[in-house]
Amino acid sequence: MTKKDIAKILKEIADFLTILGENEFKIRAYTFAVRSIEQAENIEEIINGKTKGIGKSISKIVKEIYETGTCKYYEELKSKIPEGVLELLNLKGLGAKRIKILYENLGIKSIGELEYACKENRLLILKGFGKKIQENILKAIKNYRKNLNYFTVLEAEEIVNEIRKKFKVIAFTGDYRRKMEVYDKIEAVIYEEENNKIKEIEKEFSRKIIFHCAKNRNDFIKKLFETTGSINFVKKFNIPENPKNEIEIFNKNNSEFIIPEQREDIANFEKNYIRYCDIKGIFHIHSTYSDGTLSLEEIVKFLISKGYEYAGISDHSKSAYYANGLTEDRIKAQIEEIDRLNEKYAPFKIFKGIESDILKDGSLDYKDNILEKFDFVIASIHSSFNLSKKDMTERIIRAIENPYTTILGHPTGRLLTVREGYEIDIEKVLEALYENNKFVEINAQPFRLDLDWKTCIKAKSLGIKFFISPDAHNIEDFDYVKYGINVARKAGLKKEHIVNTYSSKEVEKILSK
Ligand SMILES: [Zn+2]
Ligand SMILES: [Zn+2]
Repeated sequence: MTKKDIAKILKEIADFLTILGENEFKIRAYTFAVRSIEQAENIEEIINGKTKGIGKSISKIVKEIYETGTCKYYEELKSKIPEGVLELLNLKGLGAKRIKILYENLGIKSIGELEYACKENRLLILKGFGKKIQENILKAIKNYRKNLNYFTVLEAEEIVNEIRKKFKVIAFTGDYRRKMEVYDKIEAVIYEEENNKIKEIEKEFSRKIIFHCAKNRNDFIKKLFETTGSINFVKKFNIPENPKNEIEIFNKNNSEFIIPEQREDIANFEKNYIRYCDIKGIFHIHSTYSDGTLSLEEIVKFLISKGYEYAGISDHSKSAYYANGLTEDRIKAQIEEIDRLNEKYAPFKIFKGIESDILKDGSLDYKDNILEKFDFVIASIHSSFNLSKKDMTERIIRAIENPYTTILGHPTGRLLTVREGYEIDIEKVLEALYENNKFVEINAQPFRLDLDWKTCIKAKSLGIKFFISPDAHNIEDFDYVKYGINVARKAGLKKEHIVNTYSSKEVEKILSK
């Protein structure tokens, strides 16, 4: 045990005490002890109680740590704090005081939840937090994640774009090419002539990057096909000696060309899969009325500039107080503003909606006389995640059965690399969606991608239709729709399965039912 090790444990004790809301003097005594130890000539001096300002009890603790490597008091405090909250202490620049505020006000218990809260601008309503701090926290999370094993498509894309610049010819392959949701490595095929660059690149990125070197053009195609996978998919094919391109490989095996995202073990092949240009309008958008950063008019102008025909605005409902959820009065104001904008920007159409919290008992957040004002209602869970599987399933089904519910939002609540979805019987939920003629969302936030592609296949076979939605809070988020389309393509969904590929008139008709 060095001075540094002991100081570290004392520092953590001070942090734990802060998070637990213990008395300030006690906390100060520990912070003071940390400084004294860092400056002390030797540890004996402190253990013997000869250091000014360090009391008997802390001296005893220092002694215990020195002799055993830890201390009972430290372990006891630690056990009182949720594990995810402890993990937050690893984020540079955040600090125990802020963690306490986040935990108490927003119920943030993990890095993933914190990341979400930042993306949904929830920190801005807290005292002592501002835009700058929120940005810095996001940066700290990004740095922290570099040391974790799994990463999402956003980070994968960033790495891919950097590496691409360094090669004359490169094709990304493996999970990235199949557009999986999470990654533990990036794979690429390159030509042998460029393999001198590999070592340097491996050093530059903290992620695992695997290069497959090809001797010539035919070999390149062969390697690309083999490494794209999935393993079980590739096994079914005999690869010809010198393939000119992938189409030839498929043809020689009496198969049509299959896009990489559908090369999975499960039968998901669909020829007329949805294309990126099929999306005609965007639903699930948050505005400045709740926790979004764009005003209604800014959203409309932006979507028009991107060629979209309609928007579905769905701010948070009143239970989501942390997200500035809408009270009845503000709903009225928003509806009036939407009416004005619909006139001003016709034929662009804004559908009036709400993302209503599904309360613990499965009811929605407003009375019927409010719910009936909307063109659509997205019902989502944002709290009470820890119900039993049975209770959670019943809760969601009750929400689906509510006549005002239109879409089930982020149905499983998973946060990729961070949190599993809540316990639900997804088959039963899908059946309820089908029976009640309700839609399901493919939430395109890269940390959600919820529903996942495998469950989308099940939903499709039941005849359920989907909305692909970015759950947009910021202007960049609209771009996330493409990740939702990737999910749909993997599941072999066609244009007609996705409601927001329909024209504005058709959507109007569907919603009015
Ligand atoms: Zn939501
Ligand atoms: Zn949302």
